[in-house]
Amino acid sequence: MTTDEAVNSPELKPLDWSSWRRVLVVVAHPDDPEYGLSCAVNRFARAGVEVRYLLLTHGEAGIEGRAPEETGPLRAAEQQAACDAVGAAGLTVLRHPDGMLTEGLDLRRDIAREIRRFRPDAVATIPFDREVPWGVNMADHRVAGLAALDACRDAGNTWVFRELAERDGLEKWQTSAFLVCGDARADVAVEVEKQDVDAGVASLACHRVYLEALPDHATPEDLVTGVAAAGGERAGVDNAITFRSIPL
Ligand SMILES: [Zn+2]
Repeated sequence: MTTDEAVNSPELKPLDWSSWRRVLVVVAHPDDPEYGLSCAVNRFARAGVEVRYLLLTHGEAGIEGRAPEETGPLRAAEQQAACDAVGAAGLTVLRHPDGMLTEGLDLRRDIAREIRRFRPDAVATIPFDREVPWGVNMADHRVAGLAALDACRDAGNTWVFRELAERDGLEKWQTSAFLVCGDARADVAVEVEKQDVDAGVASLACHRVYLEALPDHATPEDLVTGVAAAGGERAGVDNAITFRSIPL
């Protein structure tokens, strides 16, 4: 393919998010949104979209040599700072056990409850395939992504988790888009500006204590700018964040 052809026919189509008002990010751990997704969050937030995060765990098992009782609150605080760095409007951190997230109705109900409460146009998560380009995916990531997808359907079904409506007054809600950021089968992209990439770098850097315990980890700058540039190349722009869009 010549350069001209590459520019004229990018591999990924632009994601149409022009009508969105609310986006819910659902992930297992603090730092999970910070490998590209948070750049798109910053872009959405700048346009007036309300973005909230739902974390299923406190990431309390994520730092070797530091007790979970201390790590959990510390990582939740680092995530709050990361949310602030990209203009996310809210953060909810549940108490499912880090490293031991299990598929099941309790987890799906907890996510469906937040979906009905917030009524997002789109739910976004990170890859939940068994195998990802960087190796075998973590158990919590495999569970969290699938549970988030299932919960989108649950939240829109009158007869699933009836107690959410009957006891909690949360009427059903149909989310229209489900997005997996950085998925190997990405089909759409969100163009981001340099300021969005910079905010994304800052959001990953907010996980300071977590990253200090991982000395071989790439720097936030190298990692996030690399993700955005690679996405941009596939989308025919300078910087972009890629998503697999799953119809609901
Ligand atoms: Zn994680």
